[in-house]
Amino acid sequence: MKHVVIIGNGISGITAARNIRKRSNFKITVISSESPYFFSRTALMYIYMGHMKFDHTKPYEDNFWSKNKIELVFDHVEQIETGSKVLHMRSEKSIQYDILVIAVGSKPAFFNWPGQELTGVQGLYSLQDLQRMEEQTKGVKHAVIVGGGLIGIEMAEMLRSRNIEVTMLVREKEFWSNVLPRDG
Ligand SMILES: Cc1cc2nc3c(=O)[nH]c(=O)nc-3n(C[C@H](O)[C@H](O)[C@H](O)COP(=O)(O)OP(=O)(O)OC[C@H]3O[C@@H](n4cnc5c(N)ncnc54)[C@H](O)[C@@H]3O)c2cc1C
Repeated sequence: MKHVVIIGNGISGITAARNIRKRSNFKITVISSESPYFFSRTALMYIYMGHMKFDHTKPYEDNFWSKNKIELVFDHVEQIETGSKVLHMRSEKSIQYDILVIAVGSKPAFFNWPGQELTGVQGLYSLQDLQRMEEQTKGVKHAVIVGGGLIGIEMAEMLRSRNIEVTMLVREKEFWSNVLPRDG
């Protein structure tokens, strides 16, 4: 039986796993170092704003994975050996695959700005970013958001929900102008 290994348990990796399961009996393993199971990234802001708990962001019941014979591994892939088809993980374990799906998502853009590594400077993408934002905005009165796109405005809404003053630095003339018309 072929072994399909998927790196990334976001919507892409999980959709791939579900559809491969529907069409085959392959052994399926999904690896992620962000969270032990799939959660809705789009709901991160509602956790910060107190509308949801992290547990509410699970799109599937806990037994979904065993019922569908999808094995979840919480680990980070450090190296892919394509010749021998082996993945080397941070835990020093390795996994052999027949078919590899890479669904590792994205990350916030930083541009080697001096100070970008300092405490209090961060992006918003992952669960770990949300935890960082939770810790680093305690007692903060004024925040600056660099970027006039969807995530920037979500961060503004999050920060305003805690009465933190927000200044947005937007390069374009209007907010999210590559998507919204001027009136929008
Ligand atoms: C705050 C926020 C709000 C958003 N709101 C919306 C919205 O309202 N509507 C919308 O359509 N989109 C929204 N998006 C965008 C949407 O969440 C992404 O497009 C989507 O999550 C991408 O899914 P993906 O499966 O490709 O990648 P991801 O969700 O990024 O999943 C990839 C996973 O792979 C893991 N990974 C990466 N490298 C490794 C490795 N080497 N080893 C192990 N694991 C690894 C990552 O940690 C991550 O868990 C939002 C994004 C953010 C950050």
